[in-house]
Amino acid sequence: MTQPRIGLIGLGTMGRALALNIAENAEPLAVYNRTTEKTDDFIAHTKANEPALAERLTPADSLEGFVSALATPRAVIVMVDAGDPVDKVIAALRPLLNDDDLIIDAGNANFHDTNRRAAAAESEGWPFIGMGVSGGEEGARHGPSIMGGGPKDHWDRVSNVLEAISAKYEGTPCATWMGKGGAGHFVKAVHNGIEYADMQMIAETYGIFRDGMGRDAVTIGKTFAKWNDGLLQSYLIEISGKVATATDPDSGKPMLDIILDRAGQKGTGRWTVIEAQHLGAAIPVIEAAVFARNASSRLPLRKRGEEVFGAAPMALPEGALSDEVLEGAMIAGKIMCYAQGFELLGAASVQFDWGLPMPEVARVWREGCIIRSSMLNDMADALTEAPDDTLIFAPFFRDLIVQHIPALRQTVATALSHGLPVPALSAALNWFDMIRTARSTANMIQGQRDFFGAHGFERTDRDGKDYHGPWAMNG
Ligand code: NDP
Repeated sequence: MTQPRIGLIGLGTMGRALALNIAENAEPLAVYNRTTEKTDDFIAHTKANEPALAERLTPADSLEGFVSALATPRAVIVMVDAGDPVDKVIAALRPLLNDDDLIIDAGNANFHDTNRRAAAAESEGWPFIGMGVSGGEEGARHGPSIMGGGPKDHWDRVSNVLEAISAKYEGTPCATWMGKGGAGHFVKAVHNGIEYADMQMIAETYGIFRDGMGRDAVTIGKTFAKWNDGLLQSYLIEISGKVATATDPDSGKPMLDIILDRAGQKGTGRWTVIEAQHLGAAIPVIEAAVFARNASSRLPLRKRGEEVFGAAPMALPEGALSDEVLEGAMIAGKIMCYAQGFELLGAASVQFDWGLPMPEVARVWREGCIIRSSMLNDMADALTEAPDDTLIFAPFFRDLIVQHIPALRQTVATALSHGLPVPALSAALNWFDMIRTARSTANMIQGQRDFFGAHGFERTDRDGKDYHGPWAMNG
């Protein structure tokens, strides 16, 4: 076997899958993991199950051995827990590498960390890429969506490998360079924010079916499966159908009925919301989804709330909502959610001078990643036509919204009037109603601000900025 020029550090869930993908679809590679037993286990397992791929792996039990196994110039993919572990690995690795050896952080880094690492790499004169990888274990093994960031010439050094291992949408690789510094990890964070929101809206619809309409999990799962044949076709709707129809092998009951209603998170949705606040971008559907996960984790509080205040009535009158209306609500909500995600990307692109390629962002999400859906192809087309415009004004999506807003309104109004929580769907509707209101209520806010803080306001009938109301002189 020729000496590998690519190495991968971190043989956890993602690293193992990515290593096999590289070995199968790109080229031989060296692998290393801090805990050597994991390397041994990985190699033994691969030898037993995929012997041809095992031959293309060079395991190392020390960082020194790993580095010397690689032909120069080297490219090292780091796939370890985000945060401090990445800094530790880079600090240990850097003294062993040559100046032109490339380090690629492929974990879920916070883009601020990637900016910091990229700046350090640039000032010290070594190449570095921060790269978001989406698709979970299955994607990493058989084709993830890859969002790269850093100097373009560094990306070009490995783009053929990354394109070879990425998912393909009708033959087009879902691996794209997004911009300098932390651009790739930022796009990945927004992807995850949209993922949170999409999942939450599906969960809310499930709740309406379960608590409002008394449907069992299997019936709900079949409805999701049916929706997956229409405009909502997406990985998340598809797996929601599968999750809902699954049976728990231990109890024989529907799996969903056994799963505790407390959602976990690793923080990428929260980062998205925090960055949106910094950038002044409105992403209420994603904010609502993060809020809902936080609220779900407070199980004792929710139990106490139900004891003290009683459960909401929830059950809907016969015929109050239909499958068609809920499907329409999901279509409208989904468009709003993606529109907000792209708004945030646009705001970040300007703020950080990234020049994010908006249509390419939509294209790279069409396959391999968790939010892949048929709508993303239409979004790529709309963003090609008008990259800087809000997605809901593109004719295709404008028509869909006009068609489905009544369903979203009916769903939100009906759910809320029966105590069925729909934070993400209602955030979508509120956002829509706010942005189609030319005369908002913020004149009252400005009046209040001027009253207590003399902040001044603009007038509708004159030019200029610093007008004040009569309250100061009236005492
Ligand atoms: P795992 O928990 O499965 O594996 C973590 C890996 O990090 C292990 O190899 C571990 O080594 C290594 N590690 C942790 N701390 C250190 C350290 N200080 N020094 C060296 N190695 C260290 O995680 P995943 O594979 O799931 O995730 C890896 C990255 O990929 C994370 O950033 C994650 O957010 C991201 N990601 C995960 C996805 C998923 O679906 N799981 C999807 C997309 C991205 P050891 O065995 O020695 O503990």
